[in-house]
Formats: sequence, structure tokens, C-alpha cells
Amino acid sequence: MADAALAKKPAAEAEQDLTDGFNLIIDALKLNGLTTIYGVPGIPITDFGRMAQAAGLRVISFRHEQNAGYAASIAGFLTKKPGICLTVSAPGFLNGLTALAHATTNCFPMILISGSSEREVVDLQQGDYEEMDQLAVAKTMCKAAFRVLHAQDIGIGIARAIRAAVSGRPGGVYLDLPAKLFGQVMDTQKGKQSLVKVIDAAPAQIPSKDSIKRALDLLKSAKKPLIILGKGAAYAQADDAIREFVEKSGAPFLPMSMGKGLLPDTHPQCAGAARSTVLKDSDVVMLIGARLNWLLSHGKGKAWGEAPKKFIQIDIEPKEMDSNVEIVAPVVGDIGSCVSALLDGMGAKWTSAPADWSKTVSTKRDENVAKMAPRLMNNNVPMDYHGALGVLRTIIKERPDAILVNEGANTLDLARGIIDMYQPRKRIDVGTWGIMGIGMGYSIAAAIETGKPVLAVEGDSAFGFSGMEVETIARYKLPVCIVIFNNDGIYRGTDTNSAGSDPATTVFVKGARYDMMMEAFGGVGVNVTSPDELKRAVNAAMDSGKPTLINAVIDPAAGSESGRIGNLNPQSALKKK
Ligand code: ADP
Ligand code: MG
Repeated sequence: MADAALAKKPAAEAEQDLTDGFNLIIDALKLNGLTTIYGVPGIPITDFGRMAQAAGLRVISFRHEQNAGYAASIAGFLTKKPGICLTVSAPGFLNGLTALAHATTNCFPMILISGSSEREVVDLQQGDYEEMDQLAVAKTMCKAAFRVLHAQDIGIGIARAIRAAVSGRPGGVYLDLPAKLFGQVMDTQKGKQSLVKVIDAAPAQIPSKDSIKRALDLLKSAKKPLIILGKGAAYAQADDAIREFVEKSGAPFLPMSMGKGLLPDTHPQCAGAARSTVLKDSDVVMLIGARLNWLLSHGKGKAWGEAPKKFIQIDIEPKEMDSNVEIVAPVVGDIGSCVSALLDGMGAKWTSAPADWSKTVSTKRDENVAKMAPRLMNNNVPMDYHGALGVLRTIIKERPDAILVNEGANTLDLARGIIDMYQPRKRIDVGTWGIMGIGMGYSIAAAIETGKPVLAVEGDSAFGFSGMEVETIARYKLPVCIVIFNNDGIYRGTDTNSAGSDPATTVFVKGARYDMMMEAFGGVGVNVTSPDELKRAVNAAMDSGKPTLINAVIDPAAGSESGRIGNLNPQSALKKK
């Protein structure tokens, strides 16, 4: 019977070469050079992951979607191509959504691709497996959101997602792919023709001549100029031009956390260790890829002092101008084009920033550095933050191409100040939201995207948000060395509960051995109690490239509440003692 039916079909149709949704998505990603996927398998994308891997894509399977999402977001920052995160429907999608919102807030290009349940059932709210109107939920959390219903639209859908993620101010994009789409078939030739190779996905945005002149006139008039380099400047990959511009200007520069290393922190113009002086006393401030958000006290108030200031801001997003204070000289364009135009405009005879100002700043900086130096050399047991970070500071100095991942409260605030960076995009951390949980996702993506060794410096609490991914690190044998600053808790490990037998809300199991987690998966675990031991263990890990977790025992009394941002943590005046 069956044979007879087949025989009746026209020959052309019987032999028609068919492709399907699975293959079209894979082909569209490949065509656009998106060859790494971070995700968690499950319905309806399990087979997609297998097929993508078989087709030569790198598919990294995580233990939780949030970590895969953070990995994709930082892959976007490091490469200027959208990082891809792949999740299952409803709960998997929601787990990935935090990272998508994070990417958008931080201006990192990322695409969250999520499988979803059947539209007909979802829209009638008939209770499908993992039912949720994901597109509607995602829309408020990202830069753009799309859904593809037909196999012939996959090419366009992916092209739109790529453009939305990387053009203008980069951000997160959601792409909804219902389960039925994967199995839809179409003619292979037609399918191939439907794919789009995106040309010039992030076109240069050239600043106007007037805006460049305005900015240079103001900079020239400054008696006490300051340049602030943000993570947008790092993202732009215009490293040589930025360095040339800063050096030619002669102005002190202040790197934001992820802008560190664009010029080395040891550069004579670096004002990192004189932060409060330059914020207070500068008269003209030029922001390059940095926003005047909470991290810069919104450009006003006590931190910025009484002296009147004028702001120049370089940013790709026109709406960023005047967001917190008046920007007298807005320069709208991509940082590469803007800085080149500024350099052209400066010409050969640019006069460097006033020497007395540079001297004031460098004197202050050197004083602060000298004050800190002896604390970084202590070999105390139990370790304090300074002793432990002094060691890690030397290790990064000796291995400047390693990537430093950093999160925590005290562990973050102190490491940011103490560990000097020497190369661009080598420090990746909690970003605009100051979130905990990026640690292992960032470490995995950094190792995979750059091929460089990774040193993750983690508070014990911060690590807990993504700790299960040590298995992922061990499974893919990544050159990641995790150092956990274990002080038995959040901020400090010394809190007590005055009202009962439960532990205080901010403490963890005392004397926990996080190193054994890595050992459980065949990696290297080390417990260290002194700066000397820490140094030996980190160097061994960086030399071997083996997945390593070092439990660094820190004095539980050493930290302070909320690290350096205790002022943001409201405390009850009525609290019972
Ligand atoms: P930081 O936290 O380091 O101060 P922000 O994330 O606040 O940095 O600011 C980064 C800024 O850089 C954003 O306003 C974003 O629009 C901008 N930006 C990102 N990429 C580019 C680019 N290629 N050209 C110009 N501006 C950019
Ligand atoms: Mg802690």
C-alpha cells in the first residue's frame, strides 16, 4: 500500500530536498559567525542543541540558565558580537531573563533564544506544558523582542535580532521560537535563499563636526580637566585611539571598574587612587562611554564638590545626554569614530593639560598608594582582605593577559581598588546593577571566548549564586582558577541572632570547605590560610590551566557592612539591641 502511494507521487516531490526549522536556525547562526551557544537543554530545544553541536557549533551546557545567560552577556561585551543563550520554555526562559535584563542595562549585545509552547494553546490559556506568553513578558526587559512562526522567516528573525543587539547602544534581544517551528519543513534551496547574512550590523556613527569643535574648545579651556573611561569605551575596541587621545590631552583619567586597563592603572596620568580629589576639584569632565548613574553619584552632590563643572560626554545614545546633569558638549557617535575625530581636531600643536593640576593629582595618588603599600604586604593569619589581595595584585601584574572576574561586597570593592589592570577588557565584574551571581558564567565565557586563563575572585556569598557551575568548568576542563574569600558569611561572618537558635541571617556554615566542591568533579581543590599559601596555589593553578578552586580563609571579622556602599543600605533606627 505505502509503496503504491509513493509511486503515485510526482517524482520531483518524492525526491524533494527538504530542510527544517532546526537546520535553518543553525545555518542562520553559522552564516552570521555566531558559533557558540550557552544554554541548558530540555523541551523543546534538546535536539536543537545536539544538532548544533553536530553541525560544528560550540554548545556549552550549563546547570542553570541564569549562568548561561550571564555567560552570553559577557561574551557579547568581549567580542562585540551578540552572545547567544538558549533556554527551554517558561521556567528556563524566566531564569535566562535576569541575564537578558542585565545585558540590556549594561549595554552588552546578547540574544536570548527560548523555545516556547504552542501559541494556540498559550493564547487561549488552556494550560499547555510550561505555558507562558514569553514574548509579552520579555518585551519590558530588553531592547527588542521577536517571535518567528514560520520556517521561511527564520533568516529574517535572526537578522533582526542581530541588528537590534549590536547597533546603536548594544543590548539584550529576545527571540521566541515556538516548539512547532523546529520541525517545520521547507525546500532546502528556498530555505537557503531565505537566510540573511547581516551586512555592517553596527554601522559607524560619525559625530557632527560642530560637536567635536565644541568638545575640544571646552577641553582646551580647562584648568583641571578629567577624563572618565567607562565600560562603553572598553567595549568599543578603539584601544589605540583612546590611549593616544588621553595621552595627547595630558589630562588625568579615571577608569570605571570595567574600563580599567584601557590604559594601565600604573600609567602616570591614572587618577584611580586620587578618585575623590579629581571628582571634587576638576572643572571640565569628559565622559567616554560612562554614564552619570549611581556609580558616579549622578554627577552631583558631595562627591563632586563645590567647584562648578562642565561636562563633555561621548556616547552612542543621544538620549543619555542631560540624563542627570547638563551636558555642555554632547558628542554623539560611536567611540571609535568620535575619538578619531577628536584626535584629528587636536592637530599637531595641542597643549597638554596644565602641569600644576597633573602634579596635584599625581602627588595625591602617590600618597594614597604609599599609604596602602605596607598593608598589602602583610602575611597575617587569619588573612585579611589586604594581605590576600596584595598577593593577587602581584599575580595579575605578572600575568597581565589573564582575565579577572570579580564579585562580592568587600571582596569586590577592595579588589577593584587594589588589583591594577594593564590591558583592556581584562576585568569583568558586577556591572551597572552591582549584581551577585555573574561569577561562574563570566568565567566560563571568558575562558571560551578569549582562550586566556581566568582568575575569579569571589566572595563566599557571591560564589553561592552560581557555584554549581564548577561542574561545568570541570567538565569542559577550562583554565579557570576560582579564589573564594571565605569569611563565613555576608559582609562578615560574626553576626549572631539574639532572639533564637537559628543562625543569623548573614552567616554561613563556619569553616566551610568550598575547595572540596571542585574536587568532587575531578578538579583541583586547595585550602589556604596565609597569603604565602594563596600565592603558591594560584600560581600553580595558572601554570597548569587545570580547573581549580582555592578556599581562602579570611578573618570573619575583617569585612564591613555592604562593603563601600553601606550608605545605600537603610537601617532601622528602632532596632532592638
Ligand atoms: P560604566 O559603568 O563603566 O560607567 P556605563 O555602562 O555606565 O559604563 O556606560 C557605558 C556607555 O557606553 C553607555 O551609555 C553606552 O551607550 C555607551 N556605549 C557603549 N558602546 C558604545 C560605543 N561603541 N560607542 C559609543 N558609546 C558606547
Ligand atoms: Mg563573605
